[in-house]
Amino acid sequence: VLSNRLRSTTKIVRSIVDKYHDEDENGSSTKKSLIKVLCYDTTSWVKETFEPQVKAFNESGKDLMVKMDFTNDRLNAHTARFAVGYDAICLFVNDTADAGTITVLSMCGVKLIAMRCAGFDRVDIKTAKTFGISIVRVPAYSPYAVAEHAIALLMSVNRRIPAASTRVKMADFTLDSSLLGMDIHGKTVGVMGTGQIGQILCRIITGFGANLLAYDVFESDAVKNMGGKYVTQEEIYKNCDVIFLMMPLLPATKHTINTSVLPLLKKGVILINTSRGGLIDTSALVTGLQSDIIGGCGLDVYENEGDYFFQDWSGKAIIDSTLTALLGNNRVVMTAHQAFFTREAIDKIVSTTIENIDNFSTGLRGKDLPNSIC
Ligand code: NAD
Repeated sequence: VLSNRLRSTTKIVRSIVDKYHDEDENGSSTKKSLIKVLCYDTTSWVKETFEPQVKAFNESGKDLMVKMDFTNDRLNAHTARFAVGYDAICLFVNDTADAGTITVLSMCGVKLIAMRCAGFDRVDIKTAKTFGISIVRVPAYSPYAVAEHAIALLMSVNRRIPAASTRVKMADFTLDSSLLGMDIHGKTVGVMGTGQIGQILCRIITGFGANLLAYDVFESDAVKNMGGKYVTQEEIYKNCDVIFLMMPLLPATKHTINTSVLPLLKKGVILINTSRGGLIDTSALVTGLQSDIIGGCGLDVYENEGDYFFQDWSGKAIIDSTLTALLGNNRVVMTAHQAFFTREAIDKIVSTTIENIDNFSTGLRGKDLPNSIC
């Protein structure tokens, strides 16, 4: 019954869409197609950046009119029904489009999932394919933003910037061993995952005068030309003073850093993760920090970030004891998935998302649809 009702609602919306006419300045009637998009997990920057760009697109004389609505809710099996009457939905890193959710989306009439990010580890691609739902993403917005943030985390951890800044603000200008860092120059730095972001990071690292070791399932000539040497994971663990995790979250990369890796690590290693929280078994990380195997850690992502990130928890009790163990550790510097968050990157995220929606509306599908996952 629900399915039939949803289908008839979708039919009605579609007939309205088909009849949609847009009057130009001279009063003449030009037929424009309309695509309705529901944007999930809307935080202030999303609305502030999308609204003017959607308006500019709609006024640009294109044959397509984009109507974008926003909800603060994250996508999940319960909130999928909000998409009734929408042709497309726009998702971010912590929206969950698993099999059940996609089934509901399909019943709602959704034909396109437009990811406003690069990663799609929470989207069930197989089920989307089964229902004929296309998925597009923003494969690159600013790899510089993420690589530069990874370096910011490294330098914050290594030079104890948060603690030093707090101390100075309290008018305490003393120095002691708790603020002691190390030169990156001359150290051995490992980059695991030398894709777009990893390669930019490699270039920055060579600028420090560090020895660069890399690990990836595909070796990049660009990294080798910078002086980087591809080695095994074990060699990264054994030799590196700093390790950056820069690969996507896949079944093969889940919990790359786990309890069995701890004994292999160089004592005091600094670990930086700006990719996806699931690359690290966080309990193992806490053990590694407590046993001094891991000397410090910079995290922009966290395994269970979906329950907390992009929300204000400052007045509430956090019940995730692993998260509180990290927050309470003075050798951990944590940001809440903000590595991408530069003006350049968010402008590109929004413009590419609108382009993706426009391309979909022209009828392109599958491999012919630019930035398509399926
Ligand atoms: P990319 O696809 O260009 O590079 C990923 C690299 O990982 C590739 O070189 C690939 O060969 C390698 N890889 C894949 N499987 C591997 C494996 N099993 N072992 C080792 N290497 C493997 O991606 P990118 O643009 O460089 O982004 C990397 C990740 O950064 C994304 O997947 C995303 O999760 C994350 N990211 C985070 C933010 C943020 O704001 N924190 C922003 C953008 C991207």
